[in-house]
Amino acid sequence: MSESYVIVGDGVAGSSAAETLREERPDADITVITDEGEALYNRILIKEFAKGKLPEAPISIHDEEWYAERDIDLRLNTLVVDIDVESDEIRTHEEEVFAYDSLLLAIGGTPQQLPVENADADGVHHFWTFQDARRIKESVEDADSGVIVGAGLLGIDFAAICGAQDVEAKYLMRGDSWWRYALSNEGAEIMHEAMRERGVEPVFDSGVDRFEVDEDGHVEAAIDPNGERYECDFAGVAIGLNFNTEIVEDTPVETDDGILVDEYMRTNVDNVFAAGDITEFNDLVLGDRAQNGAWGSAKEQGTIAARNMVEYGAEEFRWVSSYSITHFEFPFLSFGHPTLGDESVEATTGEGEWRRLALKDGRIVGGVLIGDLAPQSAYKQLMRERRYVGDQTDVLMEEGFSVDDLAQTSEP
Ligand SMILES: Cc1cc2nc3c(=O)[nH]c(=O)nc-3n(C[C@H](O)[C@H](O)[C@H](O)COP(=O)(O)OP(=O)(O)OC[C@H]3O[C@@H](n4cnc5c(N)ncnc54)[C@H](O)[C@@H]3O)c2cc1C
Repeated sequence: MSESYVIVGDGVAGSSAAETLREERPDADITVITDEGEALYNRILIKEFAKGKLPEAPISIHDEEWYAERDIDLRLNTLVVDIDVESDEIRTHEEEVFAYDSLLLAIGGTPQQLPVENADADGVHHFWTFQDARRIKESVEDADSGVIVGAGLLGIDFAAICGAQDVEAKYLMRGDSWWRYALSNEGAEIMHEAMRERGVEPVFDSGVDRFEVDEDGHVEAAIDPNGERYECDFAGVAIGLNFNTEIVEDTPVETDDGILVDEYMRTNVDNVFAAGDITEFNDLVLGDRAQNGAWGSAKEQGTIAARNMVEYGAEEFRWVSSYSITHFEFPFLSFGHPTLGDESVEATTGEGEWRRLALKDGRIVGGVLIGDLAPQSAYKQLMRERRYVGDQTDVLMEEGFSVDDLAQTSEP
C-alpha cells in the first residue's frame, strides 16, 4: 500500500508541504483539508483587495485544478474536529475519517475578539481570511468614520484600508506609540505621521472599553477607558491571534501558545508534524523557542516539514523571517524577533530614515528598518551566523554599514 500523508490547513504552510510531498513521493496518497471555501490565496494581498487596489483574481494562488493535476485530494469547507494519534486517524465535522501514516497540522490562528460589550456587533471586523477581506471592503466602502484597535502589524493594515477608502479614522492605542515593543517613539512617529497624512489619527493611552450600537445592532461608537466617545460606523480590531490548538487538546501532542515542534517541525508524537504560524519551534538562529507570524517563514516551514515527514532529520528549519509594510511612500521592514532581546540600539540615519536592532547576549535577534532597507542583508547575515557584535553596536548603526566594517573581536 502507498504511504498516506494528511495535511490540515491549506494556507501557505500546508500548501507548500503538499507540493513538496508530491515532488518527493510521486506515488503517495496526499490529502489537504481546509475549512475555508477556497484553495490557497495570497493572505498578504487581501489587504490590497480591501483597500480597493486589487481585484480578486490575482490574489488566488492555486485553483482546485492545481491539486487535481498533482493528484492531491483537496477537501474544501471541511473542518477537522478530532485527531486520534493512537489509531492515526482524523475526523471531520461530517464524521468522515481519514487515516494517515504521517500528519501535518498547518492550522494557523484565529483573530482574538476584544473582551468588551458589543465586540461582535455588525461593522466590527477582524481580519484573517479572504472572506473577512470581502466583508471589510463592503463595510468600509459604506463607512464615513472608523476606529482601529491593535497597535501592531495587522492594525496598521486596517489604518491603511481606512486611509485608502477615505474613511476618517481614529487609531486607538494603549501606550504612547504604535508597535511600542519593537519601535521607540522616534521610529513610531514616522509611522504616525504617515497615518495622519492618510486621515487616520493616532490616539494614545486609549483603547476600547465598549462599543455602542444603533437600533439595528450596527456599531456607532467606541468608548475608550478615559470615557472618550469616538463615533464610527466601521471598526477594525487586530489585537492578536488565538492559535488553533483545540484539535490537539485531548491528544498527547504538546502545546503552549502554539504546537511545540523541534527544528525538524516534528511534535513529540513521531508521525505528527506542524508548520507555519501554529508552531512554537526550536529557533536555531535565536537559540531559543520562538513563534513566527510571517508568510515566508510559514512557507519554508511547510517545505521543511514535508522533507522531514518523508525522512526525519533530512533538513533543519533555520530562517530569519521578514515582514514588510508597503502602504506608505517609504519602505518598512521588520525582521527576526524585534520585540525580544535584552538590549537595543537605534539611529536616525537621514530624513525619514530610522533603524533599530534588538540584541540578546550581544547578538542581533531582530530589527526594524524604516526608509532605508540597504543594511538588511548584512544584519540578517550576522543574525544567521549568531555573531557576537555586542562591543560594536555603534558600527552597526553607521550609514552604509557592511559586515566588513566590523572588527574581528571575540565574545568577552
Ligand atoms: C491581513 C493580513 C496581512 C498579512 N500581511 C503579511 C505581510 O505583509 N507579510 C508577512 O510576512 N505576513 C503577513 N501576514 C501573515 C501571513 O499571512 C501568515 O503568517 C501566513 O499566511 C501563515 O500561514 P499558515 O499556513 O501558517 O496559516 P494560515 O494561512 O492561517 O492557514 C491555516 C489554515 O488552516 C485552516 N484551519 C485551521 N484549523 C482547521 C481545522 N481544524 N480544520 C480545517 N482547516 C483548519 C484555517 O482556516 C486556515 O485556512 C498577514 C496576515 C494577514 C491576515
